[in-house]
Amino acid sequence: MSEIHKFLFDGLPVRGVLVRLTGAWTEILRRRASSSAAGVYPLPVQNMLGEMVAAATLMQSNIKFNGSLILQILGDGPVKLAVAEVQPDFGLRATATVTGEITPDASLSMLVNAGNQGKCAITLDPKDKFPGQQPYQGVVPLFGDKHEKLEKLSEVLEHYMLQSEQLDTTLVLAADDKVAAGLLIQRLPLQGAGNLAGSLVSQANEDEIGINEHYNRIAILASSLKREELLTLDVETILRRLFWEEKLSRFEPLVGDAAPRFSCTCGRDRVSRMILGLGMEEAQSIIAERGDIEVGCEFCGAQYRFDPIDVAQIFRVTGDLPPSSAVVQ
Ligand SMILES: [Zn+2]
Repeated sequence: MSEIHKFLFDGLPVRGVLVRLTGAWTEILRRRASSSAAGVYPLPVQNMLGEMVAAATLMQSNIKFNGSLILQILGDGPVKLAVAEVQPDFGLRATATVTGEITPDASLSMLVNAGNQGKCAITLDPKDKFPGQQPYQGVVPLFGDKHEKLEKLSEVLEHYMLQSEQLDTTLVLAADDKVAAGLLIQRLPLQGAGNLAGSLVSQANEDEIGINEHYNRIAILASSLKREELLTLDVETILRRLFWEEKLSRFEPLVGDAAPRFSCTCGRDRVSRMILGLGMEEAQSIIAERGDIEVGCEFCGAQYRFDPIDVAQIFRVTGDLPPSSAVVQ
């Protein structure tokens, strides 16, 4: 059962989220395995993608935002692209593009940061955009302060949160072929007391980075969580073992119908818009060459087939509209 648990440390400026994905994660792997074209992920890619899915779910549950959160790694190694996308209702999907040889013990940098040019992008794409509104995107490198290659996705994302939100964050992530799980501990921003306080509060907030003793104590406890424990122990056991001396206020967990689950946002309409974006000439040349246009979704494995009549329909219906630049994903 997939689940999300949010909690606060009573009276302290620290909050936490624990995510454990089972069915939502194994469904992603099952669909990949049943796609004859792509095939199963090599183990290190599977585990990296699982950590990305857990991290994206943690981040989505930690913000008030009505839109999709997309965590991407743009790699310069054998994995060119890895994507995890989580909707506000915790429908999620993920995929990775593997183009080269991968050894069974490949590290994060061997997968996506061979030449230290890999990047990690976090995109917040609002559901109800006003005309011309662009999604918000933040990008961080896969190296640390001294250009050293980072070997943990959690470290990359901790850097991102510190840069983008000026908030200390501790992440522990783990994944195997059955579970993708993560723990996030974050220092809460100081609350503004009034409109005049705005700039003072933000300065005070930055002054707190790295020195809040309560956060530091809880972060050390969180960091002691081992990969094996995160993958095998249930949520109650993990929280008790780590924080038995702290007072936690728990929120209603997201389980059952509210729990994260696999869900793909692709559809025939989106593929139609993509074909429209190709332009009539390009679409007709594909038809001439192959007889029809077939587009597969990398996230869920759905195949969309458009015969010559379907394609003519796409261009007739929207006859005098300019070509759209919409893409399938
Ligand atoms: Zn799909």
